[in-house]
Amino acid sequence: MNAPDQYQAIVIGSGQGGTPLCMALAGAGLRTALIEREHVGGTCINEGCTPTKTMVASGRVAYLARRGVGYGVHTGIIRVDMERVRQRKRDIVNSFRNGSQGRIEKTANLELIFGEASFTGTKSVLVRLKDGGQRALTGDKIFINAGARPSVPALDGLKDVPFLDSTSIMELETVPEHLLVLGGGYVGLEFGQMFRRFGSRVTIVQSGGQLLSGEDPDVAHEVAAIMKQDGIELLLNAKAARVAKTGSQIHLTRKSISPFARAINPSPSMDLTCSGPPGGFPIRTR
Ligand SMILES: Cc1cc2nc3c(=O)[nH]c(=O)nc-3n(C[C@H](O)[C@H](O)[C@H](O)COP(=O)(O)OP(=O)(O)OC[C@H]3O[C@@H](n4cnc5c(N)ncnc54)[C@H](O)[C@@H]3O)c2cc1C
Repeated sequence: MNAPDQYQAIVIGSGQGGTPLCMALAGAGLRTALIEREHVGGTCINEGCTPTKTMVASGRVAYLARRGVGYGVHTGIIRVDMERVRQRKRDIVNSFRNGSQGRIEKTANLELIFGEASFTGTKSVLVRLKDGGQRALTGDKIFINAGARPSVPALDGLKDVPFLDSTSIMELETVPEHLLVLGGGYVGLEFGQMFRRFGSRVTIVQSGGQLLSGEDPDVAHEVAAIMKQDGIELLLNAKAARVAKTGSQIHLTRKSISPFARAINPSPSMDLTCSGPPGGFPIRTR
């Protein structure tokens, strides 16, 4: 391998922090490298905020169209074309990603390197380049903005069933018949409401006594009321215990973890069934 390329600043990861940071560093006159292993924009643009909001918008259009009659607007039979929803999402993500990449590439003093970075020393990294080969770099300052990725919960039987995470659910071609969402945080709620509006039956399983565990109870209560109004089934104080596949269906056994429920039912568990192509079983992420 050649001698390491020397930079005054190296930023690992082009997410919400890394992209403006590397542009500011380069703008201040530092020779800067931005290393990104996947695509520019990180989670927010590619798998998080942007794609979810485009799909939420599609779900809202379906919701409003169904309610049209009540407002005197007749729209006919509502059919959700998931391939079109997905394409719209992909187009918007691509335009944001390409715009961001273009701005980075036009920035003086800044080099964008596609590959996976790992440290070889306190001031040196090795990049396994995306299109093959590797490069060694040294940096006076190295900033890590490696972000987040979906995590798979330790749930009995999960590895034996087809399941979705917050990224793969946005690539579905069809609307699942019944979606089980593990986790009532903002990501789970967003997908739950969106797919309910696309036409799925949706059940959200939340181990805490309220949705959105970081929010005040009155806020969580109102959000729960909105979810129920949309026809979403909420199971609070319910912990997913195991999953198993039978034919095309996935069964989730959940355990109640509320002390009150335990008092009235000493072995509180029940099966929920989830079906429909292809799997339809998103897991909580991040
Ligand atoms: C489904 C979903 C919806 C969301 N919706 C919202 C929302 O509406 N509003 C909101 O504010 N937030 C939302 N978020 C959260 C938001 O996306 C994240 O908080 C934000 O993207 C984190 O930014 P970051 O820069 O820390 O990391 P990231 O955006 O994750 O960027 C990290 C980057 O580092 C790269 N990387 C990692 N390791 C290496 C390596 N070794 N070498 C090279 N590159 C590497 C990754 O490929 C990635 O591009 C959502 C998240 C999800 C999952």
